[in-house]
Amino acid sequence: MSTESASPAPAVRREPRTYTPPPITGEGYPLSSEQAALIALADELGRTRFAARAERYDREASFPFENYADLRDAGLLRLCVPKAHGGHGADFATYCMVAATIGRHCGATALTFNMHACSQLWSGPLADDLTMSDEDRALHHERRALHYARVVEQGSIYAQPFSEGSAAAAGKAPFGTLATRAEGGWVINGRKIFASLSGAANFYGVLCTEDKVGAGMRDTMYVAVPADAPGVSISGEWDPLGMRGTVSRTLQFKDVYVADAEQLMPGGVYFQAASRWPHMFMTLAPTYMGIAQAAYDFTIRYLRGEVPDMPPVKRRMYPTKQIAVAEMRVKLEQTRALFLHTIHEARIDPPKDARLRLYATQYTVMENANDICRLAIRTCGGQSMLKTLPLERLYRDSRCGSLMLPWTAELCLDRMGREALYESGETDE
Ligand SMILES: Cc1cc2nc3c(=O)[nH]c(=O)nc-3n(C[C@H](O)[C@H](O)[C@H](O)COP(=O)(O)OP(=O)(O)OC[C@H]3O[C@@H](n4cnc5c(N)ncnc54)[C@H](O)[C@@H]3O)c2cc1C
Repeated sequence: MSTESASPAPAVRREPRTYTPPPITGEGYPLSSEQAALIALADELGRTRFAARAERYDREASFPFENYADLRDAGLLRLCVPKAHGGHGADFATYCMVAATIGRHCGATALTFNMHACSQLWSGPLADDLTMSDEDRALHHERRALHYARVVEQGSIYAQPFSEGSAAAAGKAPFGTLATRAEGGWVINGRKIFASLSGAANFYGVLCTEDKVGAGMRDTMYVAVPADAPGVSISGEWDPLGMRGTVSRTLQFKDVYVADAEQLMPGGVYFQAASRWPHMFMTLAPTYMGIAQAAYDFTIRYLRGEVPDMPPVKRRMYPTKQIAVAEMRVKLEQTRALFLHTIHEARIDPPKDARLRLYATQYTVMENANDICRLAIRTCGGQSMLKTLPLERLYRDSRCGSLMLPWTAELCLDRMGREALYESGETDE
């Protein structure tokens, strides 16, 4: 028997057990240390800065300039600039995971970040895979160095206005915006609708057709038009259902002169990229992968009574809620699995099997993001769709994903069905 006097039992310290969202890849996913650091940086900015501002940009349909200042300060505007030019040299998969992380916190910022970062991704690692003459390759290297320096040294922002309201953005017809040869450069005339970053970008990466007899889609040019060039104007209202912070108004180009050096790819190379490097059109999907995760995270917090500034009412004990959450998780994991698999298959001339999976991934991410948001609202209930909470914005933003050309949900189905049943060049005649 112990002679020591019994000391009082130490008080049991209970750690608060609150939901901690996992990284966008899920816990334990194999990442390089650079990838992990970039994803963590994007998450830190998103959580501590972007998330709290998202409601205001959405309400005002205004551009998230403060978020871009943060992205610039953190060095993320140069995410896809090659290391040799002072950037992070992110490859396709790294870009996708970082962009999806931003999408968890502010969809509109992630969507416009896509336009900016992919301008460098396309003229960098993607263009390196494409066939060019030695002369074109040398010129391209010289020109892209100019664009990279603008991003790295001046923090410039690039946009990608392609859409014209015709069949061009779907890849079915030449662009109506024309580039006419002039002394030392080109004169651009045309109009682009839904130009995200209008009024915010320093350069608009415009797809246009070289103005010559018999010009077709092979004659597409990809040219950076300085936002302050004489002849550039912005018009139209911007009051859409979702993705309001993208400020995607109409751009007009009236006799806008641009120097030769503004080409982001040599003439004809964009057409080659679009045919041979199809994953380039999946770069909008990460935004919606992030939104899907955000809707799930919100639902868990809401049902656990852990949403900040809300009464801590728990709703998790109802079996119907548990089943709904399980259903959301199944959709989320299916979406994530396909997303993570496909972003690592990006390459030139992918086999047909990978191309079909790519369409399936784009379709799945865009449609499931909206479906997960729909389930989230149904499950959380009426209070969850008030504008004081982020869920109704996620729901509206997610609706826009499957409308984005060239790979809308409909066009992905069209392509998948046709290409599954027909080999290249095959007809029924
Ligand atoms: C928030 C937001 C931001 C955007 N930002 C940009 C941007 O920065 N840059 C940019 O270039 N665009 C941008 N877009 C535009 C987007 O990519 C599409 O071009 C636009 O949504 C097309 O709208 P539409 O009504 O003109 O489509 P339409 O061309 O009228 O097509 C309507 C639907 O018909 C189907 N369809 C279209 N063509 C074909 C065809 N040939 N065969 C079969 N079916 C077809 C598609 O499913 C499509 O959804 C943005 C759009 C949104 C909503």
